Amino acid sequence: MTLKRRCTTMAELEEVLSHFGIKDPDWVAVVLFVRNLLPRLSIYSDEKKAEIQREVLAGLARGDFSQEHLDEMVAMLDMYVMQTIGALELEEALAQEKRSATELVNEMNSIINSMQGHGERQNRRLDAFRENTVGVIQSSKDRAHIVARVRGLFQELIVEFREEARELAERARMLEHTANFDPLLTELHNRRALDAHVQAAVLAHARGQSGPVSLMLIDVDHFKRVNDTHGHQAGDDVLHALARIITNHAVQYQGFAARYGGEELVVAVRNMDLDKAVVKAEAIRMNVARYDFRIRSDGRLSETPLQFTVSIGVAQSLPGWDAGRLINAADSAMYQAKAMGRNRVCAYREPR
Ligand code: GH3
Ligand code: MG
Ligand code: MG
Repeated sequence: MTLKRRCTTMAELEEVLSHFGIKDPDWVAVVLFVRNLLPRLSIYSDEKKAEIQREVLAGLARGDFSQEHLDEMVAMLDMYVMQTIGALELEEALAQEKRSATELVNEMNSIINSMQGHGERQNRRLDAFRENTVGVIQSSKDRAHIVARVRGLFQELIVEFREEARELAERARMLEHTANFDPLLTELHNRRALDAHVQAAVLAHARGQSGPVSLMLIDVDHFKRVNDTHGHQAGDDVLHALARIITNHAVQYQGFAARYGGEELVVAVRNMDLDKAVVKAEAIRMNVARYDFRIRSDGRLSETPLQFTVSIGVAQSLPGWDAGRLINAADSAMYQAKAMGRNRVCAYREPR
């Protein structure tokens, strides 16, 4: 008689019990343990299982079913049972661990897949992240540790991605700025942006979608003298001061401030007629004429101000005009202001 096979039916169990003459329910429990539970425990090696069975079998073979022998046997099995329960819990925990780890890997893979395709650099980072996390998951048995490490790695990745996105946005912003703004007078749009803006504004007016477009062309009077007398840097500083003044005015009525070229600046305004634009231009002219400009040299400002003035030509778009026509009209008004003695505003009026 061996205890290798499990009792699968009551008849089999009874056969074992009657073989040893066992009737006491506690002894039945002992037999059940070694025949039914023990073989199912994967925590014990086969040798260990055989050893326990041999001990129990030897105990049964003694034919001593006294209370003392039972206590002795139960105490021995108790020890195994205690170890078994601990081991079973561990086994269950490990199985759970594996399930969680697999879920974690799947979850992570789906996140990575959804993030992939955003550029070679990011893909390489995602691959590295995948390797790292799989490494953590495989090398650790502690779920809390796995989760904490993976979460940490994931947060690092997100921070890197965010930084990269910020850098990209900043680069895009700078590129856009370079494409549309003047390299020296950085607050002013360049000629390209001005043409596009005025063209769109004039078209919108021609279609009846918005009011008239007015344009002020502002040219520094005798600017060559500034350069010749005080140097090119002083000339640049004058342009910077002028750009600032013009921008301050333009923002008050959503004007579009630009550098037309050299020392000629422009403010284009939508929904503003000629008379109103002349008033705004006059405000700019006065502001410039009164401006307390100091020449900076060797980090020091000149004691006396350098006076400079501007001549401004103003024009309003008329039906059938394009951007070029409007700019030319403002230009001819500006030359008229020069001809009339400078430091003044002239409006372009269609010859009758
Ligand atoms: P006016 O307009 O009153 O007739 O006289 P002007 O001396 O201003 O005449 P003009 O338009 O012929 O000369 C403009 C000068 O502006 C010529 C050029 O050297 C100078 N200039 C153009 N762009 C810049 C610049 O970015 N910086 C400096 N410092 N000078 C510039
Ligand atoms: Mg000029
Ligand atoms: Mg000039």
